[in-house]
Parts: sequence; structure tokens; C-alpha cells
Amino acid sequence: MKLIAPVLADDELLADIAAGADADDGRVRLWWLGQAGFLVQWHRHHLLIDPYLSNSLTTKYADTDTPHVRLTARAVDPHRLGMIEVVTSSHNHTDHLDHETLGPLRDANPTLAMVIPEANRAFVAERLRTDPAWPVGLTDGASTQLGPWRLTGLAVAHEQLETDDAGRHRHLGYVVEVGPFTLFHSGDAVPYVGMVERLIALLGGRPLHVAVLPINGRVPARRVPGNFWGDEAATFAHAVGARLVVPMHYDMFAFNTETPARFEETARALGQPHRVLRGGERLEITPTTESEDRP
Ligand SMILES: [Zn+2]
Repeated sequence: MKLIAPVLADDELLADIAAGADADDGRVRLWWLGQAGFLVQWHRHHLLIDPYLSNSLTTKYADTDTPHVRLTARAVDPHRLGMIEVVTSSHNHTDHLDHETLGPLRDANPTLAMVIPEANRAFVAERLRTDPAWPVGLTDGASTQLGPWRLTGLAVAHEQLETDDAGRHRHLGYVVEVGPFTLFHSGDAVPYVGMVERLIALLGGRPLHVAVLPINGRVPARRVPGNFWGDEAATFAHAVGARLVVPMHYDMFAFNTETPARFEETARALGQPHRVLRGGERLEITPTTESEDRP
């Protein structure tokens, strides 16, 4: 099978990221690095959300009945992402917490900070073979400030709202505030009763410039926890008043993907501004982003 080529990859992607940093124009730029992975840039600052930049799952499941056949080529070698200040993991699944990505990323960024659900601290330390004290742990509704990045956790259900014995959630979406911008990346999630209201409360009246949500849905035969369907993602974005919604978590593994058609159809019907990115593609956000991305 021929892999989908990212719009920007390797040298071209790195040049585009560098050009954005040089432009230093106060816009937020996001690059979709595949699956749930997004690189976010503001001025010369860089945040990396849920990167999966290896073949570890394809290797791990090669001879099983759930082979993880990759659909899109890797955007970039994590060794080459030497500009990252903060990396996040939304939960413990390998496409969101990959030792073969995070090891090289740490080598490339000796002062890297990592944000995780506090409930996952021991698991993260074990998988990454790191000092358990290193990651910054968040709980539902708690925030941390790392450089210009303010991150707040929102409990999400994948597919259940799961907690540890202390009641701390194992799956978090993150509200990211930087400069005048507010973004939301849900990680892997399905809608639950009260989720819209929880997010609106965390936003505290600030505009939500971009919501990034999965669209691959829930199919029991896949035998992995599911996510929002595309129509649910568009509806959720509309309900929380997102100025723009971007779909994610498809085109990575052949057994667990979906087209954005259902997402686009619903977004269009709702008048919800949306943008479907291709792998490796850049999205630019200005403080007034809305009209330029309106369908
Ligand atoms: Zn996932």
C-alpha cells in the first residue's frame, strides 16, 4: 500500500516551522503531524501535543489480529524537533504516549517539560524510563503555566470517564492559552453528558479560537476504545462556540480510520467554521480567525 505523503515533511516541514518563528507575527500556527499530534507555534515558542512520530505500533502489532498498518508517512523524525518547550500526553495509549517519539524528543530538547494526567504519572515514568518527578501532572480543572503556555485539564471519556483510586482522571483534554489565543485539544474522547458545559465553564467567557477533535468514531469490531464521530465533533464545536474546528485521529492506521465527510457535512449544515487539514499541513490563526476559514 502506498503511504499518503504529508503536505510538508522532513526538511520542508522544518523550514516552514522556522519561517513561522522568523515571521514572529503573533499568529498561532498549527501543523498536523498525524493522528492526534499537533505542533503549535506562537512567536518563537513551541508546544507539541500528543506526538506519534515512530512506527512502534506497527511493529508491536505486526503479527497479531489487530495489525496497525500505517496509512500516512511520518511527518518528521522527533530527533529533529529541537525547538519544543512543552509536550503533552492526553492518556496512556501509545499513539498519545510513545516512548519511541518521546525519548528522541527529550534528547533533542534537554529542558523539555511534559504535561500528563496526574493519574498516569507512574505509568508514564515506567514507559519513558524517566524520573517520576519529571512530568507536570494535571487533574480535571487544574492548570499549569509553562513559559507562555497555560494548560488546563478537562476530563474526557475514552470511552468511559476513568479515574485512579484517588478519583483523578486518566484521560484529559487540554485547554491551551497562549497570548490572546485559546485552543482546545480533546485527546481521544467521546461525548458525555455535561462535557459541553464543563468546557464552557473552563473557557470562562474567553473565545475558543480552535477546537481539535477526533472523528474516527466507535466501531466495536476494531476492539479499541472509540472516539467522537465526525458529526458529533462538529456538533460539539458548535455547542461550545468554537470559532474553528479541526478534525483529527484518522488517516494513520488502516483498521481505525474514517473520512472527514460526515464531519464536513454536519459542520456545513450547522454553519460551523471548520478546516480539514492534510497531514503535515499548516493552519494559521489570527485573533479574529473565523471569516477567512468560514466554508
Ligand atoms: Zn488514539
